Amino acid sequence: MADNAKIVEVPLLPLRDIVVFPDMVVPLFVGRDKSVEAIERSLKSGKQIMLAAQKDPQVTDPLPDDIYDVGTLSTIHQVVRLPDGMIKLLVEGQVRGRIESYIEMESVFVVSAMVMDFQRATMLDLERGRQSVLEAFERFVQLNKKVGKEVQSAVTSAVDPGRVADLIAANLDLDIEDRQFLLEISDDELRLNEILRLLRGQIEVLEIEKKIQGRVKEQMERNQKEYYLNEQMKAIQGELGGGDDGRAELEELREKLDAKPLPEHARERAEQELKKLRLMTPSSAEAAVIRNYLEWILAIPWQEERPLDIDLDKVRMVLDEDHYGLDRVKERIVEFLAVRKLTDSIRGPKLCLVGPPGVGKTSLAKSIARSLDLEFVRQSLGGVRDEAEIRGHRRTYIGALPGRIVQGLRKVDSSNPVFLLDEIDKLASDFRGDPGSALLEVLDPEQNDTFMDHYLDLELDLSRIFFITTANGLHSIPGPLRDRMEVIELASYTEEEKIEIAVRHLIPKQLDRHGLGDYKVSFQKPAVRKMVRNYTREAGVRNLERTIEAVARKVAVDVVEERVNKDSRTTITTKTVRDYLGPEKFRDPDERRDDLVGVTQGLAWTEVGGQVLLTEVTVVPGRGKLDVTGKLGDVMQESVRAAMSYVRSRADRLGIDPGFYRNVDLHVHVPEGAVPKDGPSAGITMAIGLTSALTGIPVRSDTAMTGEITLRGRVLPVGGLKEKILAAHRSGIQRVLIPSETEKDLEEIPDDIRSQLEIILVEEMDDVLQHALSFDDPDGIFAYLEKRGMRHPLPDMVIPDSDQPSVN
Ligand code: ADP
Repeated sequence: MADNAKIVEVPLLPLRDIVVFPDMVVPLFVGRDKSVEAIERSLKSGKQIMLAAQKDPQVTDPLPDDIYDVGTLSTIHQVVRLPDGMIKLLVEGQVRGRIESYIEMESVFVVSAMVMDFQRATMLDLERGRQSVLEAFERFVQLNKKVGKEVQSAVTSAVDPGRVADLIAANLDLDIEDRQFLLEISDDELRLNEILRLLRGQIEVLEIEKKIQGRVKEQMERNQKEYYLNEQMKAIQGELGGGDDGRAELEELREKLDAKPLPEHARERAEQELKKLRLMTPSSAEAAVIRNYLEWILAIPWQEERPLDIDLDKVRMVLDEDHYGLDRVKERIVEFLAVRKLTDSIRGPKLCLVGPPGVGKTSLAKSIARSLDLEFVRQSLGGVRDEAEIRGHRRTYIGALPGRIVQGLRKVDSSNPVFLLDEIDKLASDFRGDPGSALLEVLDPEQNDTFMDHYLDLELDLSRIFFITTANGLHSIPGPLRDRMEVIELASYTEEEKIEIAVRHLIPKQLDRHGLGDYKVSFQKPAVRKMVRNYTREAGVRNLERTIEAVARKVAVDVVEERVNKDSRTTITTKTVRDYLGPEKFRDPDERRDDLVGVTQGLAWTEVGGQVLLTEVTVVPGRGKLDVTGKLGDVMQESVRAAMSYVRSRADRLGIDPGFYRNVDLHVHVPEGAVPKDGPSAGITMAIGLTSALTGIPVRSDTAMTGEITLRGRVLPVGGLKEKILAAHRSGIQRVLIPSETEKDLEEIPDDIRSQLEIILVEEMDDVLQHALSFDDPDGIFAYLEKRGMRHPLPDMVIPDSDQPSVN
């Protein structure tokens, strides 16, 4: 440092917010009186002036203590007096100076100051520091565009390291303290180091800033790009048509989706699809597929569960209100629900109502829903052979739809309705997959909380749904399905029951439905009986209901055409029934029919309940062939052959020429081809038909029979006795032959039916022959046959045309 220290006496100009470095040229505005005076003094005495910063820029009238000791001795280059008394001056810093003492303080500051660095050595070891600082400065300038070109060139062209340091200090964005601090370092090397430190700090800040800005810019560019593309797409969509509509529709979907309660996974998928949809032309086929899909998601109830409260009294009340009779069935339903209530869950076995059509399965399920305050939905599974009908098709198929379960759910608003699956015994399975196994997934409590519909392609929780299934028969329900169900069987109705159901339920219901509730329309009981007997022949009451409907329609016409008014009375009697319904469709069951040769009435169990099946046997010239027609199943065909073997082996005893079969053919036909018939229970019927045809002895027309036959003529027991006997009763049969081993099953038959029928237990074919054939001999059939003697079947038969056998 300077050893020949120089002291000068100069006016002082305190600066509020700037530190002036040596070699720095700055304009200053001066207004304070003391400052103006300092300038005046300086201008008079060689234009030298001391510039020193105030410690606190806010102080207007600083005292020596408020002013830093170190400042810059400067030269005034220019003075401009402004009209408001202010002075603008241009000064240039020369050298650092330290205020030693204040000489004047009253109207002006005059100080005695020591020149600090009038000597600047260009020492070699400073050169390295200078280089580092220059490099850093270069980087700084790159980052900070605010530094002007002339500053740059001034810095780089400066040879003196101290000068470099000062030039940079003057141009760095520093606060007053830092500037003052730099000003006070008179050692060039120290100052260079300090500048380097500050420069690096600033570079770091600038680099981070640049990075952030880069990122911000990138993001902005991306946003801009998306915005631009979106706008373009809107324009394209607009050109293609439907742009606005499409957007309105999107908005609507958006709103619906927001309002819809959905499980997380479904919502995620819906959002994805909606996003895809936004990018599509609204009128395109793909867009339609997605819209459809979203509408399905919106349409089915996912989480809208209704509270379930099982109130057994209410269940009983509702079931009784809606249904006549069915006491055992109702009690079973109550028991089933009681267990559900105790286990507090809808999981567990599903209810399966089994019985012939029209006995009230569907309406019981509806009543269950009503009694539990749940919604009701029904889907039929009849004829479903494709797994996809249950599970839906994948969306990739054109025109794909969800399966019947989801379709059913679309019809309701709550996620736990009573869901009736009708006719599960009519499921078929073939190459298109096994609908049974898909159904298993629907009903099985272990799996049905994650049911997968192919169309939705989303897991759906079916475990809260109250499933009820129905079937006509148990045997064609796949085993695994049956295992998961609690079966309640419903039987056919008796004539009396049907009449009660009609009077109490069907008639009021139909009159109401036809708008006749306020009219005086009444059905006399005998008229209803006639409708049951002569216009329907069924296990349930479905056709009876239709018949009542037909009457109600006719009455409605009378009302509209003013033949009937609210004061007049319409009574349906046995006489007027015919006017409403036309000729009778069925013969009166009690009507006596002729006993015919070869015509037998068997009793069969079919899907539609018990049935009386007519069997016809004719004998024609031929060579021992046995023809069987009428769509008989394998088991029944075997029964025919067994019966035939029995007859041939007993030909002798039956008085038939044992060689008969060499020149006759036998034709067994069971009409009513529409009803699939199978089972072994036709054995004795066939045997009687054959015997009658071969012996020419007629069969009693008041008698029906059921029973399996062995080759030796034993009668074996068969099932479905109750349905069969009810059917016999319906058809006006008076005598029924049943295997003696089924006697115990008679307990199930209502007493009034039993008392109207003569039920004959048979053990051997001999018994059957005795009771079924129509002959006149008090000693019995075999005595009668013996008296008749041996005969050949054909000579006595009247055969009008051998190609077309007919039965009288
Ligand atoms: P399913 O489903 O067994 O074929 P439905 O439930 O469709 O039979 O019954 C047919 C009609 O008969 C319905 O109108 C039903 O209300 C009525 N019905 C059946 N059984 C009874 C009954 N026991 N009491 C009152 N109405 C009945």
